[in-house]
Amino acid sequence: MDCKETQANIELFVKDKLDVKKLKEFLYHVEQCEECMDELEVYFTLYSGMQILEKDKDSGIDYRVDLKRKLRKGEETLRNFRLKKFRKILIFIVFILLIAIFL
Ligand SMILES: [Zn+2]
Repeated sequence: MDCKETQANIELFVKDKLDVKKLKEFLYHVEQCEECMDELEVYFTLYSGMQILEKDKDSGIDYRVDLKRKLRKGEETLRNFRLKKFRKILIFIVFILLIAIFL
């Protein structure tokens, strides 16, 4: 994913609408690219600000901490996805072994 695509996906990321493949590429890019991380921070701050204005006017949330939490949550989603994939492969291997034993 290049800078242009990453920045086009910022809105989707903030709204939790990226699929796993895109999320992986997105997180990988923003971790390496200061420019896109800045863009993300700006958008996230604006978006959170608007959300808060709609809900609670003086909750005093630290946006930066929140963004870090969101990035971590994205990484967690990826980890869980990999784990599920790994489990599927494991079940498949056990299945093949069972067939091999019974044949
Ligand atoms: Zn970039």
